[in-house]
Amino acid sequence: MTRLERDGVSMQVSDARKIWNSACDKYLVNEVSPLTYNTWFRKVEPFSPDDQTFVLAVPNDVTREYMVKYTDLITNVLVMLTNKNYDVRVKVYENGIADIEESLVTNKKNKSNANTERRHQGSTLNPQYTFDNFIVGSSNGFAHAACVAVATMQGSQNYNPLFLYGGSGLGKTHLLHAIGNQVLVEHPDRNVVYIQTEQFVNEFISCIQRNDYDDFRKSYRMTDMLLIDDIQFIEGKEQMQVEFFHTFNWLFESGKNIVLSCDKPPQSLATLEERLKTRFISGLTIDITPPDYETRVAILKNLADLSNMTLPSEVIHYIANSFTTNVRELEGAFKTIKASADIGHPISLETTKNLLKNMIHPGTVRPLDPLLIMEVVANYYSVTVGDLKSKLRSQDVVIPRHMAMYLCRTKLGMTNTEIGLLFGGKNHATVINACANIKSKLESDPRTQEQLDNIEERLV
Ligand code: ADP
Ligand code: MG
Repeated sequence: MTRLERDGVSMQVSDARKIWNSACDKYLVNEVSPLTYNTWFRKVEPFSPDDQTFVLAVPNDVTREYMVKYTDLITNVLVMLTNKNYDVRVKVYENGIADIEESLVTNKKNKSNANTERRHQGSTLNPQYTFDNFIVGSSNGFAHAACVAVATMQGSQNYNPLFLYGGSGLGKTHLLHAIGNQVLVEHPDRNVVYIQTEQFVNEFISCIQRNDYDDFRKSYRMTDMLLIDDIQFIEGKEQMQVEFFHTFNWLFESGKNIVLSCDKPPQSLATLEERLKTRFISGLTIDITPPDYETRVAILKNLADLSNMTLPSEVIHYIANSFTTNVRELEGAFKTIKASADIGHPISLETTKNLLKNMIHPGTVRPLDPLLIMEVVANYYSVTVGDLKSKLRSQDVVIPRHMAMYLCRTKLGMTNTEIGLLFGGKNHATVINACANIKSKLESDPRTQEQLDNIEERLV
């Protein structure tokens, strides 16, 4: 159970969030430009302190000024969705959800005059990040399995602490929330705390200033599971590291699970106390790497399915080849395409290229290499790269294998020996044969030419 739920105010946040999400998905995304939508509307944290008021919490004055212009539009959209004429207000909450929680909880406590114990002010779990909607591939499979293990076998010291690291947008935060959400499904009474390290540090500083440092300690030590995101922000903060060390030990020795995420391995945290580094690597340390082509395609297909959309396969291939290092960007690309489709524009490869041209960083488009050829060919014929490298002799594998060999020869000028090695150690005569086979098919069978054209289109 999250803090908000325990305090009985979750409806004010979770229902408001549901309403806001449908307002965004069904209406607002079509009413404003994708840039405005992604920059401003998606940053809002909605809540509804009472039946008549709908508050849009924003992080700063700039966002507030921008959003205020849209309150009439938002009011109308809320009427359409809920049949209620909400008083829509835009307010600045510098610490995001923590401030909102605080204001709601204080409100509630004042009302009930309850004198309950102070708990941590950590963020709540995002119900949208679950194991169900996390696509598993070779880049994140181990991390995913370890997270599932922690969520289902809490208290097991084998994976304690679990330290996940990897670049931005690769699913670390998603996995941390998924653990918490899963634990709460099975044990709603558990005190699971998810917190961003920056927020943890801020809370610590304000407790020191208010001199209620003991409260801070107690609140964290009461947790059953601590999920702490982006621990790299603790670098260079010595006093904080000392405090964290004690909290860590306390939880660890009480058999409570700790999961940490970081943008680099523990050894690379430059200004981190040695004893903390030792603690961090005493459990299981796993890296998450950028998803491979197949996983990127699966993520896009999943996003399309969730939105009841069918994306042409060349569009999927184009997006998957253009955003290779960051799932957040992959999702951003999908949302842009979806926004355009939602207002009735048909999706084609041309429109996709046009819509995404400003989002693709120069240099991130993957240059043509043998692996890309194999991935694209395998995908086109619905076989796997492993099949291409295998010794399988069935026609549904032989043709794609020959085609991929032919492309490596003609597009990359690789030698027959190099190609043979790449395709699972075949000899050069096999490659010569394969290329000759495709050549003669191209001359005699227009379908082969058509297949080649389609594949070449996906390689650009
Ligand atoms: P990080 O914390 O590593 O920077 P996030 O967890 O915030 O990354 O992920 C960025 C976005 O990509 C989120 O919306 C997340 O849901 C999505 N995402 C990342 N990896 C996957 C995956 N394997 N399957 C589905 N969605 C993913
Ligand atoms: Mg993150």
